[in-house]
Amino acid sequence: MLLIRNGRVLDPAMKTDATLDILIEGDRISRVGPELDARDREIFDARGLIVAPGFIDLHGHLREPGGEMSETIETGTKSAARGGFTAVCCMPNTQPVNDNASVTRSIVERAAAAGIVRVWPIGAASLGSKGEALAEISAMKAAGIVAVSDDGKPVATARLMRQVMDYCTPLGLPVIDHCEDPSLFAGGVMREGPNSLKLGLQGIPAASESICVGRDIEMALLTGARLHIAHMSTSGSLAYVRAAKRNKLRVTCEVTPHHFTLTDEDVRYDTHYKMNPPLASRADRDALIAGLADGSIDAIATDHAPHHPASKDVEFDRAPFGVLGFETALALGLTELVDSGKLSLTRLVELFTTGPARVLGLERKIAAGEPADLTIFSTEHTWTYRTADSPSKSRNSPFDGRSFRGAPMATVVAGRIVYRR
Ligand SMILES: [Zn+2]
Ligand SMILES: [Zn+2]
Repeated sequence: MLLIRNGRVLDPAMKTDATLDILIEGDRISRVGPELDARDREIFDARGLIVAPGFIDLHGHLREPGGEMSETIETGTKSAARGGFTAVCCMPNTQPVNDNASVTRSIVERAAAAGIVRVWPIGAASLGSKGEALAEISAMKAAGIVAVSDDGKPVATARLMRQVMDYCTPLGLPVIDHCEDPSLFAGGVMREGPNSLKLGLQGIPAASESICVGRDIEMALLTGARLHIAHMSTSGSLAYVRAAKRNKLRVTCEVTPHHFTLTDEDVRYDTHYKMNPPLASRADRDALIAGLADGSIDAIATDHAPHHPASKDVEFDRAPFGVLGFETALALGLTELVDSGKLSLTRLVELFTTGPARVLGLERKIAAGEPADLTIFSTEHTWTYRTADSPSKSRNSPFDGRSFRGAPMATVVAGRIVYRR
């Protein structure tokens, strides 16, 4: 039995914000209350720390199977645990693509054997994510997928999106889309604007994203499906999502820490600033922060996208898109959103816990009988992020060497402390 004592328990679902003890028996929370009996118990002293429901990342790339040079389920989930995440949804663009039940089962089994935190696979929407025929969605659901997506690219056509949505709705699965218009995106490497001109890099207009968001919302209106917009980066996309929510459509969205922290003004000839969607304008970044604050945006998701150092050590144009995300997500949220006075601490916690849980149709709360998944963090602890210290196999972060105030201090999954700073 593990007793977490004297922490500030912050649970947006239960509207709890008080100094309480949490008793864990086996993999479940058995009691929550003040000054619980401490005899014969393993004690974790959480004095001065926040105890939150376990963080969920809706969007990560663990690269296994097929991309083990860059990451494995073991190294990726170790990195996730250091970031305070207790569950990671892994995108299906592996090799082979997770488009059938046997790949899903192998990910689930590998995660059970080597995973440090919970791994919830996302299945491909189309076979091979090629945008032609539907993937084996129903069989993958039986094997454990929690959503579908052709991430890495959008669901190819409106017609296919309609089929995917019609198929997923009775199964209760959300459809997650990576929104871009390939004809506008073509060849681009950063956001189109004065900064792409200055750097002489091929730009991608903001409309590339919002056109696809608009299309998907039209399809959600037509089908009544649950639609989730991945890594949303522009104010145009946000306007579509806000309108959809006003119209009571089941549309949700996520924003990454790099998109609420950096802008296209930060881009330099360093491939650690190359990601998809690209870093947006300052006006877009500020609109995203407003959306995070007012509830229009449902979740912070990392889009953790490891790439082996050699693959990023090339010219900007030739490098793959993507950056690491697990270990800096909370610290960036605390620094950029809470310390700056733009979000309350409770709202930030919501964006990592109840928000993503709701996208998946789950609940996440600290109460007797619930799974004992907890994220224990400090708002004061100062530290410097060094990719060289990371259990991830990759090093591609623009935040390498950055100092932070605030960090995950312990990650508890199914009643076990899987990471302790
Ligand atoms: Zn994507
Ligand atoms: Zn992704």
